[in-house]
Amino acid sequence: MFVDSHCHINFEGLAERMPELLARMRENAVTHALCVSVDLETLPSVLAIAEAHPNIYASVGVHPDHEHMREPSVDELVELAAHPKVVAIGESGLDYYRLEGRTLADMEWQRRRFRTHIRAAKQTGKPLIVHTRSSAADTLKIMADENAAQASGVMHCFTETWAVAEAALAQNFFISLSGIVTFKSATDLQEVARRVPIERLLIETDSPYLAPVPYRGKTNEPAYVSHVGRFIAQLRGIAPEELGAATSENFFRLFGIAR
Ligand SMILES: [Zn+2]
Ligand SMILES: [Zn+2]
Repeated sequence: MFVDSHCHINFEGLAERMPELLARMRENAVTHALCVSVDLETLPSVLAIAEAHPNIYASVGVHPDHEHMREPSVDELVELAAHPKVVAIGESGLDYYRLEGRTLADMEWQRRRFRTHIRAAKQTGKPLIVHTRSSAADTLKIMADENAAQASGVMHCFTETWAVAEAALAQNFFISLSGIVTFKSATDLQEVARRVPIERLLIETDSPYLAPVPYRGKTNEPAYVSHVGRFIAQLRGIAPEELGAATSENFFRLFGIAR
């Protein structure tokens, strides 16, 4: 009934508890999850989980926070994305949150890396998973420059304003909301959750981070996406089943997964 469109269950603290995670997904009607790659060094652990479990999918990409990891080329991403369980390119994007004394001009490597991912997504025909933090304007500008609309994709763990959501929707992207939407202080994000057209909405955990209420501060896991889904359903005044069915359908459509 629910799908976790973005998690990192290959990370330490989750990977060694796979049987438990899968059991709790079943108990909470979470049918599928997408395990998202953050660098090429740990990609094998992502692929191993996707290969071992029919309802877990994978992506290939290098996160903007993983600065000193191996830099992928378009060709390399395209080649890695040919794996039968890889359904997306990413996560990649821009993250200006921790500049640590650097200027925006110093972050050109992130922008170059992001362009590489967009080009690979267009070439493979697989959608792009975009990470953006403290960098919405540049993220949208590069997406427009590179015509990311052609690949489509998702703005994952969305925490920006409605204006940014609208701009991403106009570029043919989906909006994915995490447990942050359940936090009491997240009133602007709750407004976004009400307004995103339901056929463009996804839900995710981004586990092990950002557990939703009532697990805030604890280790997150895919089963908890049900709490994100139920919370948004209540905001929108619809049944959890309806929200779950719509966001699951969107997941299968965007990532080209046969039911
Ligand atoms: Zn991210
Ligand atoms: Zn992530």
